[in-house]
Amino acid sequence: MISVLRLGHRIPRDRRITTHVALVARAFGADCVLVSTKDSVLERSVRNVVEKFGGDFHISTGVSWRKTLKEWQGTVVHLTMYGERLKDALPKIGKKNLMIVIGGEKVPPEVYDIADVNVSVGNQPHSEVAALAVFLDRLLEGNPLEREFGGRMSIVPSKKGKNVIERAAELPSRRDCLEALREAGCDSAVVEHCKRVSRLAKKIASLCGADESLCELGGLLHDIGRGRTHDIDHGHAGGQILQEKGFPAVLAGIVEKHVGAGIPKNEAKKIGLPAKSYVPKTLEEKVVAHADNLAEEGKIDLLIDRMEERGLPAAAKRIRRLHDELSEKCGMDLDDL
Ligand code: SAM
Repeated sequence: MISVLRLGHRIPRDRRITTHVALVARAFGADCVLVSTKDSVLERSVRNVVEKFGGDFHISTGVSWRKTLKEWQGTVVHLTMYGERLKDALPKIGKKNLMIVIGGEKVPPEVYDIADVNVSVGNQPHSEVAALAVFLDRLLEGNPLEREFGGRMSIVPSKKGKNVIERAAELPSRRDCLEALREAGCDSAVVEHCKRVSRLAKKIASLCGADESLCELGGLLHDIGRGRTHDIDHGHAGGQILQEKGFPAVLAGIVEKHVGAGIPKNEAKKIGLPAKSYVPKTLEEKVVAHADNLAEEGKIDLLIDRMEERGLPAAAKRIRRLHDELSEKCGMDLDDL
């Protein structure tokens, strides 16, 4: 058990640095951080990271530092620029039941006495975050940096760009989705249309190897935004409703990108949506968007003609491309479904 005791946390001034202390403690191999000042905002933000990225790191705030140190059954190491050199101290420090104390502006003199070892990471003033990172890294020989935390989100090391895997969060039931449509104010015509798109999306998913449950539920929820608006921004509104309701982000993503074959960032900006791309990227996003297109007119050519008549040739082209892409993946013309 490696604990970090953070002294002298001032609200709100030190929130950011103490958050960094906690995140460094977690990433570099400690099991918990104890903070001498009560701060529930800090607790929540650290727990959010743990909930997302995994591991069983623990945070407690408002702990009595004196009592904690006196009762600690193990070694107490105090990191301070005045301490003995890290390389001289390390051989004396075991990895079991270790309490690492770091300070803020001023550390009470008593801490120097209670500590079994006062250790400096270079005898220059710098930062508790740096001191903690270097100390843990030397003590544990870098091993925690290779650790798998097993969280909902995990990062695939990449030479360029960001590659993040988000494991499927627990999905709601069909009943939860229908209830959500009702609560959002969708009328029965919208609900019936959602059920139809859900059936179609599930069928397409089974043909092209997309996640059937995601497509079924995404289809069921795709028009939830129509409880607020029937305008082109109903996809965006739907994503917001799902976020507010705490539905998995993966479903909110499907819903906000379902309009036509998506809305690119420049067009989104023009129609007053927050400037980002609403073009479906994942296979499930594409399947639900296109199930909605197919449900609209029955045949894709009819929908495309209608889009062109309405002066939306670019959107019509995107729908054609999506139709061809998914038809190829499904091994059949989706018009014949
Ligand atoms: N005068 C303080 C001291 O005792 O090191 C410096 C305060 S510094 C802003 C806050 C904390 O960073 C310190 O309490 C200590 O835990 C850590 N720290 C800063 N420089 C350090 C160093 N060279 N070696 C070890 N810890 C250091």
